[in-house]
Amino acid sequence: VWSRCLQVIRENVPEQSFKTWFEPIVPLRLSGTVLTIQVPSQFFYEWLEENFVHILRKALDFGIGRDGQLEYSIIVDNGNEKNRPLTVNVPTTRSPQTAKPDNVNPDILKSPFQLKDLDSLSLDSYLNPSYTFDNYVEGDCNRLARNAGYAVATRPGVTAFNPLMIYGGVGLGKTHLVQAIGNTIKNTSQDKFVLYVTSEKFTNQFLNAIKTDTLRDFNQFYMQVDVLVIDDVQFLQKKEKTQEIFFHIFNHLHQSGKQIIMTSDRPPRDLAGLEDRLLSRFKWGLTADLQTPDLETRIAIIQKKLMAEGVYIDNNVIEYLAHSINTNVRELEGVIVSLMAQASLNRREIDLELAKQTLRNIVIDSDKEVTIDAVQEIVADHFGITVADLKSKSRKRELVYPRQIAMYLAKEKTELALKSIGYHFGGRDHSTVIHAIQTVNDLMTEKPEARETVEKLKAYFK
Ligand code: ADP
Ligand code: MG
Repeated sequence: VWSRCLQVIRENVPEQSFKTWFEPIVPLRLSGTVLTIQVPSQFFYEWLEENFVHILRKALDFGIGRDGQLEYSIIVDNGNEKNRPLTVNVPTTRSPQTAKPDNVNPDILKSPFQLKDLDSLSLDSYLNPSYTFDNYVEGDCNRLARNAGYAVATRPGVTAFNPLMIYGGVGLGKTHLVQAIGNTIKNTSQDKFVLYVTSEKFTNQFLNAIKTDTLRDFNQFYMQVDVLVIDDVQFLQKKEKTQEIFFHIFNHLHQSGKQIIMTSDRPPRDLAGLEDRLLSRFKWGLTADLQTPDLETRIAIIQKKLMAEGVYIDNNVIEYLAHSINTNVRELEGVIVSLMAQASLNRREIDLELAKQTLRNIVIDSDKEVTIDAVQEIVADHFGITVADLKSKSRKRELVYPRQIAMYLAKEKTELALKSIGYHFGGRDHSTVIHAIQTVNDLMTEKPEARETVEKLKAYFK
């Protein structure tokens, strides 16, 4: 029966399409008037249904008759369920001649993907309006990404930055930036459908569409997007089926001049388990990274956040915070929030004292990073002096030695730059810190006691 069907198909489709889409099909069985064919993937099935449904109908008419039906068996390989066929019943008999125009498929109503209703312009973008360019502080760390983002925001789909891929570590502002792009486009071009989606949500929607047999709606929903913002694509690693559908959507949107914006927590070349053909698509546009913000940018970010909250904090506290937290912006914000909470709970001003206390608690809580405060306390303790002594201007021998060791350990054990370390030791400059580190290194090779002391102190921070 299948070969009779193929005969019709071959006459009706181009040679290349026939090779690509029909030769790989394996006929499984014919029970009654239902013919079951096996296709290599979900995507394959979708494609057949989208592009060849009339020809398939014609083929069935010829091979089986008017009441011939088609059933697909799809090879699914998602990890543990390798090659378990998934059978989907496809009502191929709904031939175009008999379909009633107002015959609404109840599944579409139940489906989680609303189709674009041209009468109502309010399709949810899932954008958070509080992420804007206005409150995105520019610095050396993000200049290229921000400027490219701004170009895309003002001329979506037109610039060479398509797709625009933003990558960078956690908490460095990827989501903020791409949402700012989305918000700008949404506000300036009301007719454009901007959609923000995390890769995780995309994956879940896709899996759900398979489960509920609404893949067609899923596809249609994404095909109508004008600007697709997809966050954290590293999540698609090793998810072959999701990548496949994403590839399909990506190509469709890109070819229609639609803008695609993506983020990842690592550069594309490190996205292991992402198909090469998908990776090569990323290279079509621009890839820009976000770096850890430098001191000035951190200060500017803190100032901006405080201004937004309507809170005033003395500059020395701001500087202290900016010096102490140099990991990422999210942590910086976290500290500001808990600082404000502390201040209001204890009905006190946000001063240096409170800032230090808060920071110490937070860092001990998260139990991951060594703070300079901890280094100073432990060294002071060991030598029977105070932290204030370490920071003082005094050049007494019994203070200089512990101070140098504390600086050495600060360099070894914290992420701080030399300049920041100097700042924490009574505002000394970075050459003093370099000198201290050098001295301790020399002492350690010359004097076993010095080595022992340093090793002992180091052990506190493991
Ligand atoms: P990521 O997505 O890279 O993990 P986010 O975009 O969620 O990071 O940023 C974490 C927090 O830091 C957000 O609240 C964001 O508003 C803020 N943030 C990051 N970068 C900046 C910046 N350059 N200016 C202002 N706020 C920023
Ligand atoms: Mg994010």
